[in-house]
Amino acid sequence: MKKNILVTGGAGYIGSHTLVELYNSGYKPIVVDNLSNSSLNNIKGAEQITKSKIDFYKLDCTDFEQMNKLFEEQKNIDAVIHFAAFKSVEESVIQPDKYFSNNIGSLEILINLMNSHNVNNIIFSSSCTVYGSPEFLPVNELAPFGKAESPYGETKQLCEKLIQKSEINSISLRYFNPVGSHPSSLIGDCSADKPNNLVPIICEVASGKRKSMQIFGNDYNTPDGTCVRDYIHVVDLAKAHVMAVNHILNNTKIKTAYNLGVGKGLSVLEVIDSFQKVNNLKISHALGPRRAGDVEKIYSDNTKINIELGWFPVMSFESALETAWNWEKLKNL
Ligand code: NAD
Repeated sequence: MKKNILVTGGAGYIGSHTLVELYNSGYKPIVVDNLSNSSLNNIKGAEQITKSKIDFYKLDCTDFEQMNKLFEEQKNIDAVIHFAAFKSVEESVIQPDKYFSNNIGSLEILINLMNSHNVNNIIFSSSCTVYGSPEFLPVNELAPFGKAESPYGETKQLCEKLIQKSEINSISLRYFNPVGSHPSSLIGDCSADKPNNLVPIICEVASGKRKSMQIFGNDYNTPDGTCVRDYIHVVDLAKAHVMAVNHILNNTKIKTAYNLGVGKGLSVLEVIDSFQKVNNLKISHALGPRRAGDVEKIYSDNTKINIELGWFPVMSFESALETAWNWEKLKNL
């Protein structure tokens, strides 16, 4: 019989890609999403790709009563993947309470319900923001949590600590910078947020939504002076969730965290340059001052997940840039 995986935030960008990979690996995903930052089209897209019907509950994870009903109805949940959260760093600075109540509140309710319904396994969407500005690069999982650069980053730190304290088996996946889309272009990032990640901003310039983009600082201690990040294809990221589910279901007493990045840093200018070459487009950009809260450089040591889960990135950065642009074009049709 197929194992049931409850996927909160499954209509979102990373969630919808994970639905496809779960289904392709023989799991039955059950989705909860309030569609606050996504679209039902991602569920429909995942159904089209997998040629299957996906169980979908339009619910808010912070609604205890409704979530309890769902746990009562779906008696055999084997594991939960908790994506549901707000993710805009910028907005979290302006409205920190919104972030604390949704990101932490939803997890508290989930842990509570998992305990009372005997669901013992959770995969949590964390972020490399938990490291703040790491002292050593590439950063590995032994690095301490740094000073959070935003309330959003702080919610991820607090959530990891909450999970750590619980009795539940857990894997926190610390994503670096997810990019790209499924090759079908049937699912992708439907975020209502104003993008503050590099590739979505480049795509907006490419589509004409923005005239030009600003590069925040070129006087950092990096090869070309612009910030360096670790970009991971969303399909590789989604596959890592399946491996994490396999691992947690086949082992007892797991409490761990893995970095999810490719292990290579790319600068802002390198990304713009690659995007232009891959998509044969010109991206108008200008150099500007540094932006508050930006970490100079961060990229992952992914050895732990390589060894323990056998996960390695296989998708190319070029395909991430190509599919990101394909998704942007379709979004604007
Ligand atoms: P997303 O906004 O596309 O997906 C999140 C989904 O959760 C959305 O569909 C939204 O409608 C839903 N949601 C939010 N609050 C909810 C609630 N209370 N109840 C029900 N549904 C709710 O974001 P994403 O990029 O797919 O990110 C998924 C997770 O990964 C988030 O936890 C995010 O913080 C984390 N993360 C994302 C990135 C990134 O760059 N995309 C990087 C690191 C970590």
